[in-house]
Amino acid sequence: MILMSNFDYDCIIIGGGASGLMCGSYLAKKISRLAIIDSNSRLGKKLSLTGNGRCNMSNSNIETSNYSSDDSSFVDSAFSQVDVNESLSFFESKLSVLTSSKDYLVYPYTYKAETVVEAFREYIKDNSIELLLGRSVVAINPIDGGARVTCSSKETYTSRYVVVATGGMSYPKTGSDGSGYKLVLPFVGTENLENPMPALVQLLSNDKNIKSLSGIRSQVKVSIRGSKSINDVIAVEKGEILFTDYGISGICIMQLSSLCLSYAKRNKNYPIVYIDFFDSYSLEDVVHMILRRQESFPNRSIVGALSGMINSKIVEVILKRHNLDGRVLISSLQRNKVETIAMELKSFSVNISGTMGFDFAQVTHGGIKLNSLSHLTMRLKSNKHIFLCGEILNVDGPCGGYNLQWAWTSGILAAKGVIKSIEGEETNEV
Ligand SMILES: Cc1cc2nc3c(=O)[nH]c(=O)nc-3n(C[C@H](O)[C@H](O)[C@H](O)COP(=O)(O)OP(=O)(O)OC[C@H]3O[C@@H](n4cnc5c(N)ncnc54)[C@H](O)[C@@H]3O)c2cc1C
Repeated sequence: MILMSNFDYDCIIIGGGASGLMCGSYLAKKISRLAIIDSNSRLGKKLSLTGNGRCNMSNSNIETSNYSSDDSSFVDSAFSQVDVNESLSFFESKLSVLTSSKDYLVYPYTYKAETVVEAFREYIKDNSIELLLGRSVVAINPIDGGARVTCSSKETYTSRYVVVATGGMSYPKTGSDGSGYKLVLPFVGTENLENPMPALVQLLSNDKNIKSLSGIRSQVKVSIRGSKSINDVIAVEKGEILFTDYGISGICIMQLSSLCLSYAKRNKNYPIVYIDFFDSYSLEDVVHMILRRQESFPNRSIVGALSGMINSKIVEVILKRHNLDGRVLISSLQRNKVETIAMELKSFSVNISGTMGFDFAQVTHGGIKLNSLSHLTMRLKSNKHIFLCGEILNVDGPCGGYNLQWAWTSGILAAKGVIKSIEGEETNEV
């Protein structure tokens, strides 16, 4: 499709991250004068870090209700337009990326994020998409029939259509520094920016004892509960937890981080995390485990007798909390103290004082509200030449390929939106 115009480009995509690369690749064969601008000197900087360098690119069992957004029906219809299969078949048929799936988690067959980035680079080269790298866009101005994009170096480019794919604020060293919001706010107003907050991020604790557990990993069940009542269970996750010198980490903790933040926003304090180190055992089972050790090893210290069942440092923290001396013989423990230790092992509390910041967050919670877009074309309601996709929008999902899948789905939708607008222009229907 060639548009006859005096514009430099038919479409400029601002942002060469996951969603911008997908949008550009989808448009590549449909329009001829296409450019991607990115402030980095190389494409897909964040993409190459995803999934610990392995890129968990999608999830074959996506539940759209697991995304957090200002309009769940928008997210539902986005996925009914462009689902996981359509995105993965684009990867396989056009980008030549072979995928592999394990427990619903989809990875490139090579288990290397760089494979995905490289596939985009090659496709862009094959299709002569122009790359304007190392240029940071500072403004988008409406002009008759299109928009002018201005870079910090004062270079300007005109285009009939502009797709803003600048990401959110997570991992700003990869280029997503929040500058995209500034580009879009003049068109949508501050009321359409949901306050961006770090999500899928580690939790901070000011409990000094937690520091002494730094480095310990354990398979656990974690629940977050309201700070006023232990019965107020907000959410539960299972998986590996990692204690660190600032607090707690691990996928199950990151999954709970957005809920912790939104709880704190509503209640002015953070919920409490409870860790069950013996999820597959009942409280009674754990009591009996300790009693058995008391019987078998009467001359061992409490810490020594329990060492085969749980990391000694965790036992030390529990004993400290209850003013018990770990060096005394386990045989001297009374039944009620045995029950107290068992209860702690089943619900070990960690006070939360905050979350790590955007530098450590995998994704941004908040962003430009979906309400600012025309349904399904990803086009701004206030300007028919500007489209948005990816993490800049107020959509975020849990770990497990959800966020990259949103980048692919919204990137393809934005590309289809641009194509529809061009076709409409040709038939004068826009
Ligand atoms: C460490 C880490 C691991 C992750 N792992 C996974 C995973 O395994 N699976 C998963 O689903 N999700 C994962 N995510 C989340 C996922 O990477 C993001 O949700 C996704 O990359 C968002 O894509 P995007 O295109 O919207 O933004 P980005 O990928 O952040 O790309 C935005 C691009 O825009 C450019 N840009 C920004 N502002 C400007 C400007 N003013 N001018 C010019 N260019 C600009 C930036 O340089 C950047 O290249 C991970 C995130 C991190 C940080």
